[in-house]
Amino acid sequence: MVPVQDGVGGELEAAFNVYTGRPVVAGVDDVVPTAAQLGLEPPRYCMACGRRMIVQISPDGWWAKCSRHGVFDSVDLGRR
Ligand SMILES: [Zn+2]
Repeated sequence: MVPVQDGVGGELEAAFNVYTGRPVVAGVDDVVPTAAQLGLEPPRYCMACGRRMIVQISPDGWWAKCSRHGVFDSVDLGRR
């Protein structure tokens, strides 16, 4: 798992699959859509709490907002 910035200055570990909203289980690979693997698909769920996020596509990527953990931006994740 890759630690990520949570938008409020702390680090989080991904606990939920951002595309399916299912909890991440150690040793079990969840299915990630092909478009998502290519960085074309924005995440739909917060990786920290599994809540459904508000997703907005922008010309240079996307951002997704969790009501608790703030905004995740494709630029921050190096997918520009
Ligand atoms: Zn969250």
